[in-house]
Amino acid sequence: MPFSGSALNPNTFGAFGTGAKPIITGKDSLSGCDTPNLLHLTELYCNIIFHSMKDIIIKMYEVGDKLIPSRVKKLLAQYEYKLACLPGIYHDRNVHPAKGLSRGAVTISLDFEMAWAWQYAKNIKVDFIAKGLQEREQVPLILSKLEMLNIPATWATVGHLFLDRCSRGASGLAHHDLPRIPPFENKDWKFASGDWYQFDPCSSVKQDPAWYAPDLIEKILSSPSGQEIACHGFSHAGFGHYCPKNVARAELDACISAMSRFGIKTKSFVFPGNDEGNFEALAEKGFQYVRSFPKKYAKISLPVRRKDNGLWSVPVSTAISRGIRWTREERLARLKLFVDLAETTRLASHVWLHPSMPLSEIEEILIPFLLYCADKRDRGVLDIFTMEKMVQATETAFRKETAVI
Ligand SMILES: [Zn+2]
Ligand SMILES: [Zn+2]
Repeated sequence: MPFSGSALNPNTFGAFGTGAKPIITGKDSLSGCDTPNLLHLTELYCNIIFHSMKDIIIKMYEVGDKLIPSRVKKLLAQYEYKLACLPGIYHDRNVHPAKGLSRGAVTISLDFEMAWAWQYAKNIKVDFIAKGLQEREQVPLILSKLEMLNIPATWATVGHLFLDRCSRGASGLAHHDLPRIPPFENKDWKFASGDWYQFDPCSSVKQDPAWYAPDLIEKILSSPSGQEIACHGFSHAGFGHYCPKNVARAELDACISAMSRFGIKTKSFVFPGNDEGNFEALAEKGFQYVRSFPKKYAKISLPVRRKDNGLWSVPVSTAISRGIRWTREERLARLKLFVDLAETTRLASHVWLHPSMPLSEIEEILIPFLLYCADKRDRGVLDIFTMEKMVQATETAFRKETAVI
């Protein structure tokens, strides 16, 4: 899914200033809990002040992009790094196991989408075919590292990638039997007009390998390291408020059908463009776990069962691509800190990424991060779970607590 690619995104920051001490924020988009934690008011006020400072720095950044000399920009990046290095911790004993998991855990999810994700990106100039081909090159590399380190991950896969070919209907349209999402604009995409499928080449994996990937999916499935395939829509259409229910349902049906030919029946879903919505359709089609973005990004936390539809929200902590102005060492150090905090709190850190990220970042950030996680796992102080297993571990922790009582 495309995003601004900027370190300026306010979501980059956590509820900083917390150190390793859990803050019970009391209200979160994951569960819609009320706010019973008056004892934490002081901490909350401190957070408000810190967030105001954060907003000022972000504003300065935006202006600074054009006006401020690079030396000053570097200095601002350092302040941003220091603030973003203190991820918030959301551990609400009303909705989470009181003692957390048996040990801290990490989840890694990858948005496997190739050309589909970048067709209507508005904040970055991108050649979506080139991006798809880059992803095609890099998926085997990432998979081989996961396999070598025996790390299971969740691959949020666009349904069209399961096809080895497709063709135009009599109307001349691609996938003419599927309802179309109307034009919309959100923070990352602008689909101004035309047919959502207008760029679909309607050919084959051989002719247009940026749009189909059954060969790569076979590789992921044949890995002995327990990889999970999650649904990421059929055509990467957004699921936000602008998406009619019949379109969401059709996206899910088409994806489920394409996956079934590979023997896959997944319960995990990752929103295209991370744009959340149409939860009823997801529940109706049998999905149980959805990747979610808490109101305050960069949180160490655990899955929460939603009150409104029974789905489990599996919260994201950070994107591996955050912090484009920081050095690679700083970015890696931050990710390691997330893992350390998951370990000490017995909660989870959930890191997500695009397999099409720059190769140098795979080599200098992702692989060292995977090594760091694997080493902790091998020393028995950390678990590495797919989204599905993370929810199951949370349910197990709940059951253990109930049994003790
Ligand atoms: Zn995506
Ligand atoms: Zn097609």
